[in-house]
Amino acid sequence: MIVSFAGVGEAFDETLPNTSVLVESGSSSILLDCGFSASCGFWGLAKNPLDLDAVYISHFHGDHYFGLPSLIVRSVEEGRRKRLTILGPSGIESRVNRLLELAYSNVRTKAKFELFFIECDPDEDIKHSGFRFRFAMSSHSMPSLGVRLDAGGKSLFYSGDGAPTFATAELARGCDMLIMESYILDADAPGHGSVDSSLELARQTGAGICALVHVQRIVRRTQKGRIMAKLNGVDGFKAVLPESGDSFDL
Ligand SMILES: [Zn+2]
Ligand SMILES: [Zn+2]
Repeated sequence: MIVSFAGVGEAFDETLPNTSVLVESGSSSILLDCGFSASCGFWGLAKNPLDLDAVYISHFHGDHYFGLPSLIVRSVEEGRRKRLTILGPSGIESRVNRLLELAYSNVRTKAKFELFFIECDPDEDIKHSGFRFRFAMSSHSMPSLGVRLDAGGKSLFYSGDGAPTFATAELARGCDMLIMESYILDADAPGHGSVDSSLELARQTGAGICALVHVQRIVRRTQKGRIMAKLNGVDGFKAVLPESGDSFDL
């Protein structure tokens, strides 16, 4: 499994695209979240962007799905023919169709490929595009689904937005890599993870690597030294603060 970061930023960071992660296993590939500033990062990162099998949307904040019109319209321009699956919480199909209609109203008639939607549910286990998907609700200001992907004997957990919950901790157990929303450093921020809560979850679940993303722009800029000291102080797993463009071969 190869995990590459098209973006690592929070919602409004002028220096970092929104968190968006390309996951490849064999010939299958999935993009995890696609916010308003992320889709061009994906295009710059992916070797074969038209081969992308699916996009997973964790929740309906703009920094996690408003890049879909850009991704889809560019796919149309580049002559995509392969079906594109979009997975997300309940309401994903109507949300994305409304978004496309507002952004580029005639794109569905021009597209030579099908958009196929799958609604995700914490109680449902999905096998699609060469991956096994499982979901758990995090603690965020709106319903946000963390996702676990298993393929080729490797496993990845992506938190989406939100603080860890009992359910996400159970789902993340034993994963080779955790990608954790870590908005703040060490305090409690209602509805968000922190550097401390992410590292604690990695310790509890026996993770191999814990990657911190979606760090609040001011925190990342002014407190990077404190973040790195925390990452360097962990024991039993590797903790990283990836940059956009970084890639990990699990
Ligand atoms: Zn966000
Ligand atoms: Zn959010």
